[in-house]
Amino acid sequence: MTVYHFSTILQLQTDLKAGRVTCHDLVEQTISQIASKKHLNAFLEVFEVSARDEALRVDAKIKNGTAGKLAGTIVALKDNICFKGHKVSASSKILEGFESLYSATVVDRLLAEDAIIIGRCNCDEFAMGSSNENSAFGNVLNPLNEKCVPGGSSGGAAAAVAANLCHVALGSDTGGSIRQPASFTGTVGLKPTYGRVSRYGLIAYASSFDQIGPITKTVSDAALILEVIAGKDTHDNTCSSAPVNAYSKEIRSEKKYKIAYLKECVEAEGLDPEVKSAIVRQLESLKSAGHQVEAISFPYLEYLVPTYYVLTTAEASSNLARFSGIHYGHRSAQASDLESTYKKSRSEGFGAEVKRRIMLGTFVLSAGYYDAYYNKGQKVRRIIQDKTREIFKNFDFILTPSTPGTAFEFGKNSADPIKMYLEDIFTVQANIAGIPAISVPCAMHSNGLPIGLQLMTNYFEETKLLALAATIKTE
Ligand code: GLN
Repeated sequence: MTVYHFSTILQLQTDLKAGRVTCHDLVEQTISQIASKKHLNAFLEVFEVSARDEALRVDAKIKNGTAGKLAGTIVALKDNICFKGHKVSASSKILEGFESLYSATVVDRLLAEDAIIIGRCNCDEFAMGSSNENSAFGNVLNPLNEKCVPGGSSGGAAAAVAANLCHVALGSDTGGSIRQPASFTGTVGLKPTYGRVSRYGLIAYASSFDQIGPITKTVSDAALILEVIAGKDTHDNTCSSAPVNAYSKEIRSEKKYKIAYLKECVEAEGLDPEVKSAIVRQLESLKSAGHQVEAISFPYLEYLVPTYYVLTTAEASSNLARFSGIHYGHRSAQASDLESTYKKSRSEGFGAEVKRRIMLGTFVLSAGYYDAYYNKGQKVRRIIQDKTREIFKNFDFILTPSTPGTAFEFGKNSADPIKMYLEDIFTVQANIAGIPAISVPCAMHSNGLPIGLQLMTNYFEETKLLALAATIKTE
């Protein structure tokens, strides 16, 4: 079997049609590559049987000319996205062995275009984390430097794309979980506008923040995947019915834009000097390409992470109440009555970070503290949204580094949750405001790890976002 070198989904379509490769070969190749990189721990499970069946089905469709636009695209799912008849665990012991009763809308839409779902990827438990160190099933190694984390929470998904263990992965992004691991692994990570993509079949963490999006090798693949998964869904009332653009076609725009960069981000304490200079050089090249680039002040940076953690933990404490040991998931063998079933099942099933967030969330929602924390958090969220909207009255984009530094070593932040939470400083604004954002690789650090650049734009302006992102070149 000759090894197929994947470049883009479009090129793959040409190669499949010309008979240069078959879906059968792609699946076999991927299964053996995943096995040879088992030590990365990127996959919790490879769906060998269903992927092989799907390959045969799609090969037949390619032969008779009826294949969809993602024919043969090998897609990995973060382990919080449901695929009917397959296990899903949110990388938690509490859901170990649980099988999805239905497929997420995004999965149905990918399959309808003849993508092949290859397996489920390790992640931080219930998508809570920035390093994948919170998985109940072990760390994921960064394929670019195995001493380092791949980022989180979609760490396995990003590692899988970076290590060529799939063509595309779907992740979820509540505060940066697609963009930060993309940044740490030199891949492209897109968080769409809140409501652009259905969350039906996504295991919820913080429902007013969560979005599903692609992790890809290229911006053009992100555009094509978004085009397929976006759009109205009667199963998810938070999903917008705004028309879906032909993102993959409109990406070749030559328009000149107004780009703002946040002074407070570039001057942020803790920003790696090489990340800073890479961003400054990118701003220069955007200027030379004819875009207007301006520094603006956004004096709310220090409120972003606290607001995010007050509101998301509140929502998590409510969402995760369903894991009670009664209906599904882990039930403690030690339980003797209803109350001990709840207590023991949850105590045994959840990991430390998930417990911390459930307790924090319960605290900020408790009668005595609701006003001081949850209500205050909601008010600050409104201010951040309004101030973000104001920027887009004058600018097309906000540009920031995706993360303050490159991928860090295992254990470096895990003893101090606050330090870990500060990893999210540049990514959470997009989730608090609900706007779309993308991380693209823009340079290499002298430590050999990639640096990510983040672009944010106004609600439902993904076309523009992808078009500008496609012009960013890695130095
Ligand atoms: N790192 C952030 C957190 O720990 C983001 C998680 C996410 O986007 N799911 O919550």
